Amino acid sequence: MSVRQKLYEGKAKILYVTEDPDTVMAHFKDDATAFNGQKQGSISGKGAINCKISAQLFELLEERGISTHFLEQVEPNQMLLRRVKIVPLEVIVRNLAAGSLCKQTGLAVGTVLKHPLVEFFYKNDDLGDPLLTIARLLLLELATPEQVEQLREKALLVNEILSEFFQNRGITLVDFKLEFGFDSQGELLLADEISPDTCRLWNQLETDENRRVMDKDRFRFDLGEVDAAYQQVLEKVLSEK
Ligand code: UDP
Repeated sequence: MSVRQKLYEGKAKILYVTEDPDTVMAHFKDDATAFNGQKQGSISGKGAINCKISAQLFELLEERGISTHFLEQVEPNQMLLRRVKIVPLEVIVRNLAAGSLCKQTGLAVGTVLKHPLVEFFYKNDDLGDPLLTIARLLLLELATPEQVEQLREKALLVNEILSEFFQNRGITLVDFKLEFGFDSQGELLLADEISPDTCRLWNQLETDENRRVMDKDRFRFDLGEVDAAYQQVLEKVLSEK
């Protein structure tokens, strides 16, 4: 399938149109940003690593009955996706406290939550992706009440599948971000990517709170060896239990 013009360029990916109006090509970049674009850099090999990790995880989720936009990986850093209209929400699922949850609630980093927590953030760079209440989300008509419940259920199911998958590989899935979109048939699909850019992953063999980090927090907080950590996640994802 030949690639045509650029549809959209984001911080970590470029989307291109293809000959099929319902299919887009995603090109994963090595570029990395954090803190709403204030910190910028590059992680060597990240594009191909995140592309492969995402492909593997989307395939796993599809096998377990979750509809995703993933079609196939066609190059080390390129995959074909079903075209969707993205719901402007970042759906965050948390199993342990970290990041903005700790900052906003005072919970200690690593506190195990009694139940997974699902939160909705407004996907809006100009506003700095703020945390939404359900009331505000409905007020802004970002989703209907039924869609909110659908998103919550799907996110919790994804969490069950991915938590078990990573647990079997010695990694704790601390939290992660999902995005969803509607395809041309109106079906709600899991979209975007699932990678160390969008998940917090802790190596269970490491007790030191910096050494255990296998995700973008290594880049955010200048912990070093970012590319090696991403590569290690890929190797774990590709390994049989
Ligand atoms: N996350 C993401 N993109 C965002 C915001 C968050 O992928 O724009 C991921 C982040 O990597 C973490 C989870 O969502 O795995 C929860 O992030 P949090 O709300 O704690 O925000 P942060 O600490 O990253 O500001």
